[in-house]
Amino acid sequence: MGFVIAIDGPAAAGKGTLSRRIAQTYGFQHLDTGLTYRATAKALLDAGLPLDDEQVAEKVAREVDLGGLDRSVLARHEIGEAASKIAVMPSVRRALVEAQQAFSRREPGVVLDGRDIGTVVCPSSPVKLYVTASPEVRAKRRFDEIVAAGGEADLDAIFADVKKRDERDIGRADSPLKPADDAHLLDTSEMSIEAAFQAAKSLIDAALKEI
Ligand code: C5P
Repeated sequence: MGFVIAIDGPAAAGKGTLSRRIAQTYGFQHLDTGLTYRATAKALLDAGLPLDDEQVAEKVAREVDLGGLDRSVLARHEIGEAASKIAVMPSVRRALVEAQQAFSRREPGVVLDGRDIGTVVCPSSPVKLYVTASPEVRAKRRFDEIVAAGGEADLDAIFADVKKRDERDIGRADSPLKPADDAHLLDTSEMSIEAAFQAAKSLIDAALKEI
């Protein structure tokens, strides 16, 4: 069993950037678990299958290849929406959590980011971070990202979307988004990514000294 760093939080809080940087710094493998839900959703959409049939969605979830996940292919807004719909289904979650747990055993260590890593997927992880920011800040960051990539965006629509996604993630019965009791909270609303990284690094270095 390697060393597991669990990073949870709502959409667009900065988890992805932080997780990639941590993985690179420590030479750990990184799994963005949101992509496993997105890949399942995309496979259903591509095959013209319904998003409300749990048995079908579970079967598709069991076929997701963790080696073939690519955010640029899975980033589309409709895929994110569909992912958060199928993510409420317990048997879909069970299938994807099993695959994520198998990944988490890789040596020398891993960084997993998502919504339920510290609470459900890897509850014994020695470092749990809960990365958050206000909905206004998260919507603005997503807006800036789209504009910087040359796209057009509507800040009010993005804000409404962030709120809707939060409600679905926080309100679901199975594995709702919430910090683990022993998670360290990092509110990045007024914190640069560099400051967030330094805070995470001190926690990780301290935990690595103890093993
Ligand atoms: O993080 P991302 O936006 O890619 O995740 C897409 C959706 O997948 C989320 O809105 C959430 O509903 C779901 N998800 C989840 N558990 C995770 C990761 C993502 O339920 N560990």
